[in-house]
Amino acid sequence: MTTTAQKAQANDVVGQIIYALRTMGVAPIPRNYQLFYEAYIGSNTALTQDLAALGSRATQEELDALSAQYIGTGHAEVIERAHGKLLVELEGLLRLLRQEQRSMESYTKLLGETATRINSKANFSNDIIGNAIALLTTATTDTIAHGERTVDTVAEHSLEMDEVRKELDEYKRIANTDSLTRLSNRRAFDDKLTSLFDSAGNLPVTALVLADIDNFKKINDTYGHPVGDKILATVASVIRANVRKDLFVARTGGEEFAIIVEGNTAEEVMLICERIRCALETRSFRNSRSGVQYGPITISLGYSMGSQAEDAGHLYANADAALYHAKHSGRNRTVLFEEAMSRDYAGKNWLIYRN
Ligand code: GH3
Ligand code: MG
Ligand code: MG
Repeated sequence: MTTTAQKAQANDVVGQIIYALRTMGVAPIPRNYQLFYEAYIGSNTALTQDLAALGSRATQEELDALSAQYIGTGHAEVIERAHGKLLVELEGLLRLLRQEQRSMESYTKLLGETATRINSKANFSNDIIGNAIALLTTATTDTIAHGERTVDTVAEHSLEMDEVRKELDEYKRIANTDSLTRLSNRRAFDDKLTSLFDSAGNLPVTALVLADIDNFKKINDTYGHPVGDKILATVASVIRANVRKDLFVARTGGEEFAIIVEGNTAEEVMLICERIRCALETRSFRNSRSGVQYGPITISLGYSMGSQAEDAGHLYANADAALYHAKHSGRNRTVLFEEAMSRDYAGKNWLIYRN
């Protein structure tokens, strides 16, 4: 439950950030919000002082230098945190403003009605009563004008907050998307995988599939990196087109992909993987202008069921061990993780292998 004091505080912080961004002519982009947010909320007084020392004409470069110095380069994570905090505060501010809008509207209405009633009896001859009526009428008129101004201000603030929210949502989307393939990126994948395990660490009906393009280095070496990029994007679209819309698909590394399958058995996951593998194997990768045939392009897949793992890292290692097995038993195949694979795989540092 948010208290009135908390709401007022949230209102104050957001108000100060917006005011500071405006008066300093700073672009309202997430990393600037974050910097100003940390300056106002954070306990780092050096940041607050350095930001203040930039004065009213800070350049984006100067602001970025402060961000790098005090907030670090983990932009995506930092922005995610700011996004969450800011939204909570915006929510509080909007609720507050809307309440004020409602009470001001009813107060304005009441005063308006009172003025109408008093005016209808304005034939009193007594000067004192006449003056009082005049005063009250003026006060009422002023209040109505003030009320209207408040309503306009609230409406403006609401619009501004909605814009901030949209802007941050868009930034979050970009921060979670791989620009080459438009799939979710590694960061989004890590978040998703971790979130799948419940508080007891259970993951009963989920599978993790890791897929890696076969001999992709040769494609790059033969045709060049730009062609490699196009093939990567096409492979991503083939994967996406051959799985259910609700499955989470990410590009987790150079030419490596991950799919999180929920609610299927190991046999069903095998079918999902094989469908992707066959779709790629039979797909023509021909340059329509030059006629050059780049393919066939094949992919190896390894997967582990959630029930075979204790946590997200374990599940990933299992799927990677299965992928390793698929590579080393001839490529262009799908392999389900088995405990025995951990032994072959134990000597390999899967992080190094992946890179
Ligand atoms: P394997 O079948 O064992 O997976 O062989 P591979 O050649 O695919 O594997 P390796 O890890 O040796 O090479 C992966 C290559 O992927 C190396 C790199 O040139 C290429 N690669 C990684 N990211 C990108 C990218 O964004 N664009 C392009 N064009 N190539 C990339
Ligand atoms: Mg590869
Ligand atoms: Mg690879």
